[in-house]
Amino acid sequence: MPAGLLGIEDLTREHIQAILDRSRDFQPRAEPNFRKLDLLRGRMVVNLFFEASTRTRTSFEIAAKRLGADAISITAQASSVSKGESLVDTLNTLAAMRPDAIIMRHAASGAPHFLQRHLETPIINAGDGTHEHPTQALLDARTILDRGAKLEGLRVAIIGDIAHSRVARSNVYLLSKFGADIVLCGPASLLPAELAQIAPGVTLTNNMDEAIRGADVIMMLRVQLERQHEMAFPSSEYFQFYGLRLEHLRLASPDVIVMHPGPINRGREISSEVADSQRSVILNQVENGIAVRMAVLERVLCGVAGH
Ligand code: ASP
Repeated sequence: MPAGLLGIEDLTREHIQAILDRSRDFQPRAEPNFRKLDLLRGRMVVNLFFEASTRTRTSFEIAAKRLGADAISITAQASSVSKGESLVDTLNTLAAMRPDAIIMRHAASGAPHFLQRHLETPIINAGDGTHEHPTQALLDARTILDRGAKLEGLRVAIIGDIAHSRVARSNVYLLSKFGADIVLCGPASLLPAELAQIAPGVTLTNNMDEAIRGADVIMMLRVQLERQHEMAFPSSEYFQFYGLRLEHLRLASPDVIVMHPGPINRGREISSEVADSQRSVILNQVENGIAVRMAVLERVLCGVAGH
């Protein structure tokens, strides 16, 4: 099977560590202007997004270009899928144009895994339904490590719409492989009990204070209205019980960091005061998204040993 990147679940700790280490070489550091590299000159990647995205799509595109590759982006509305072509046919057509990798996002969980079985071109999963979003977990880990923290023994609270969150799942797989303690928190309707079993080191609670007490990292999640068939909570009530406010931070470890994969909804799951506070690393996450995706593209396109 071609070595793309479908999820975190099947990666080894060493493999993840190698991507995280390599991504450091691609962080801008002190240089204000990023020098374009030519590691992937003459290579081409196609971004195929069947769901809305701002940061992930742009970030993959910038990552490819910074490595000297060409990147083409196709959105579902503009593709032949809207003319009734099947997913397999669309992918086969694109693959016949010989890109070096296809980066795809799709609303169906497992779509990239299914397509990879039919295709020689490596696929990079940029989010599949409620299943995985591997590069998000990698950039989150990079951002935590940049603070000088070790993942082992770290207390990470992931709060919000856990049920529909591919970000939560990929983070649980990654953090668990490195020995972190993970607390998943949300209203009962958005917190499936079986998630406690998906990886070691996971506990569940419906109580936000309990989740935050002693946390080193607080990861907030957006309520995925597009994946819910009925509104679970009126938005004002949601914020009252599961919205992160400044007073919550006093319960956490003194140097807690607050993360959010974006897009954030101010006043719904996070207050503006927290989102804009010194504790927030939300924009560092966005910045690291490029470095981590450069490391992933290099690995997939250059077939680095061990992949
Ligand atoms: N951007 C993330 C995702 O695509 C999180 C979100 O949309 O809430 O899963």
